[in-house]
Amino acid sequence: MNKELILSIKPEFVQDYKDGYPLLSKEAIVNLDELKDEGLILKLLDSKKKFIAKAYYGIQNKGYGWILSYKEDEKIDISFFEKKIKAAVKYREDLYADISTTAFRVLNGEGDGLGGLTIDYFDGFYMLTWYSLGIYQLKDEIIKALKNSVDNKGIYQKKRFDFKGMYIEGDDFIYGVRAPEPLIIKENDTNFAIYLDDGAMVGIFLDQRDVRKTIRDRYAKGKTVLNTFSYTGAFSVCTALGGAKKTTSVDLAKRSLPKTTEQFSINDIDIKKQDIIVEDVFNYFKYALRKKLLFDMVILDPPSFARSKRHTFSASKDYVKLLKEVIQITAKGGIIVASTNSANFSMMTFRDFIKKAFKELNIKFSVQESFKLPKDFRVNDKFKEANYLKVVFIKKIS
Ligand code: SAH
Repeated sequence: MNKELILSIKPEFVQDYKDGYPLLSKEAIVNLDELKDEGLILKLLDSKKKFIAKAYYGIQNKGYGWILSYKEDEKIDISFFEKKIKAAVKYREDLYADISTTAFRVLNGEGDGLGGLTIDYFDGFYMLTWYSLGIYQLKDEIIKALKNSVDNKGIYQKKRFDFKGMYIEGDDFIYGVRAPEPLIIKENDTNFAIYLDDGAMVGIFLDQRDVRKTIRDRYAKGKTVLNTFSYTGAFSVCTALGGAKKTTSVDLAKRSLPKTTEQFSINDIDIKKQDIIVEDVFNYFKYALRKKLLFDMVILDPPSFARSKRHTFSASKDYVKLLKEVIQITAKGGIIVASTNSANFSMMTFRDFIKKAFKELNIKFSVQESFKLPKDFRVNDKFKEANYLKVVFIKKIS
C-alpha cells in the first residue's frame, strides 16, 4: 500500500474538487489509462501540476473513487483511518451513551470523509460494508484502525461490489466472537432480531429509527394499520407496541412471514391479533379495494426499484400510482406514511408526487410532518445527493 499514482484532473473539474466535492468522476480524469489496480492511492493534480487532494481508486456505480485528504503530506495509513473513525465515533457519542438504543450507524461513507465504506454498530458488534473493490483493498489498515478506535465483541463485513453493487456471498464474520443468531438489538427500547451473517441484509434498516419511534409514540394508538413492503415487519412491531388495534403486514418475500413473527414474539406482542400476508402488494391492493377495506394508517416504504412476476416498480416513475392505490384504502382522517429511499428525486419532487396523487383522486390532504436521514447517517454538505431518505406523514382529510 501507499504506492501513489499521479492523476491529472481536467481543468473544468478542478474547482469542484477544490471546493470539496468528494466523488472522483471518470469524466474528470485525464490519464484514465494509467488507472489499473483498484485501491491505489491517487494524488490529484491540476494542469499546472499543483496538488489538489488525495483520493483512492475504487469503481462504484457512482464514480471512480473518493477524495480522502486535502493535505499533500498526509499518509493514507492506519493512523489516517483511525483519525476518521475516532471522529465519526465522537460524532455519535450520544448514541453510544443511550442505553435504550444499541444499533446505529457509526461511519457513513463520504459523510464522514471515507466514501465507499459504512460501519454500523449492533450491540458491541461492528459491521463494515465495502462498496468497491478499491476500498476493500484497504481493508487491513481500516480493520486495524477500527480495532484501535473502539472496543468490540466481533467484526463482520458485507462485500457489496459485485456486478451492479450486488452483495457477494460468503462468511461475513471476520474477527472476535460470533454474534448470537439472532442478535437482539434495542432501538428506543424496542427489540429487533437481526442476523449479521445471513445474506445481504441484517433485518433492519437503521435509517428509519426516528420514523419508527414517531409512529410508535404518536400515531399508532387505537389504529388499524397496513404495513406494505413490510420486510421483517419493523414498522408493524412499532405500531403494535404503540397500541395499534391490529396490524397487517404485506410483503412478497416468503422469509417475511417467519421474520415478522419473530420480531413480534421478541417484543411480547400477541401474534394472533396480527396478519402477516405473503403477497405482491399490488394484488393485495386489488383485494382490499374489492373488499372495501379501510385502514386508519397505511405505511408505504417500497424499494426504489423492484421486479416481481407481474410488475416492475420504480419509485421515480410509479410512486404516484402507488399512492393512489393507498389513498383509496385509507379511512377519512387516516394517516399515510409515505417513504422512499430513492436518491433519484428530491423531497420537493416527492411532495409533488403526493400532491398529484391526491389531486387526481380529488381528495384533500394535509402534511403532518416529514423526515430525512437521522443524525448518524451523516451527509457531506458538498454531496447532497447522498441524502436519499424522504418520509412524509400525510393526513387524508376528505
Ligand atoms: N419497510 C421495510 C423495508 C422494505 S425493504 C422496513 O422498514 O423494514 C423492501 C421490501 O419490499 C422487501 O422485503 C421486498 O421483499 C418487498 N417487495 C418488493 N416488491 C414487492 C411487491 N411487489 N410486493 C410486496 N413486497 C415487495
